[in-house]
Amino acid sequence: MDTGLSGFIKKLPLQAQPLIRLKEISSEVFVISINRNHDFLPGQVVAVTTDFSIPPRLYSICSGNKEKELSILFNVKHDGTLSPKMAQLKKDDTLFVSFPFGAFLGDDKPAWWIAAGTGIAPYRSMLRSGLGNNKTLIHGGRTTDSFYFSDEMTAFLSDRYIRCCSQQSGEGLYNGRLTSWLQNQEDLPLDHLFYLCGSAEMVVEVRDILIGKGVDIDRIMSEIYF
Ligand SMILES: Cc1cc2nc3c(=O)[nH]c(=O)nc-3n(C[C@H](O)[C@H](O)[C@H](O)COP(=O)(O)OP(=O)(O)OC[C@H]3O[C@@H](n4cnc5c(N)ncnc54)[C@H](O)[C@@H]3O)c2cc1C
Repeated sequence: MDTGLSGFIKKLPLQAQPLIRLKEISSEVFVISINRNHDFLPGQVVAVTTDFSIPPRLYSICSGNKEKELSILFNVKHDGTLSPKMAQLKKDDTLFVSFPFGAFLGDDKPAWWIAAGTGIAPYRSMLRSGLGNNKTLIHGGRTTDSFYFSDEMTAFLSDRYIRCCSQQSGEGLYNGRLTSWLQNQEDLPLDHLFYLCGSAEMVVEVRDILIGKGVDIDRIMSEIYF
């Protein structure tokens, strides 16, 4: 018997939705868009699958909560089950999607948004939902093409948008991992909230750094992509 989160996800009612668009925005990184049929809070996720033989996986919504379309951002895991299939979809193919849910919620308080890879998705939703004021975004990626949505992030956040590139160098990029960038910060704004989104390793490492620099654990919100 499935218990816990995976049991919960498998029992979610799924609605068949025609795909409006699948756009490759970087190598093997896609944005999928469908009609938005529900209200949601920026930061929430949906469970998604392409057919009922594959248990749904969770994806952060990356579109704004007043937009007509609902979009998710995903990268292809070659040895994965669902993401290679989603990357093959065509317009009007069916996607099965749950209602939005989740507790990783943005608000209008001052915060640092910290993301690795596709972990940028919920912050883009927060930004496009009007929550971008008083925010600093720190995004980590391996290569210079990992900074998804960088045009809109730069336009809104300007120098409050820090891109940390671990394997390549480029104009405007910090050359190193986002954890190194954080380690090098002397004074963190301890009265801010800190949102962390990405792999378990990244979230644990960043949380340890923040706590080591005096951030209260109650100010740290995490979304782990497993
Ligand atoms: C809250 C949440 C939000 C998320 N949001 C996003 C998002 O916005 N964008 C995004 O791209 N992803 C997101 N994810 C991750 C996403 O849900 C999927 O896990 C991801 O897309 C891979 O799915 P897949 O079916 O292709 O791979 P899977 O088949 O699930 O496999 C994933 C990896 O695990 C390995 N694996 C599978 N089974 C085992 C096993 N038994 N033992 C060891 N290794 C195994 C596979 O080889 C592969 O490398 C999120 C996850 C969570 C929990």
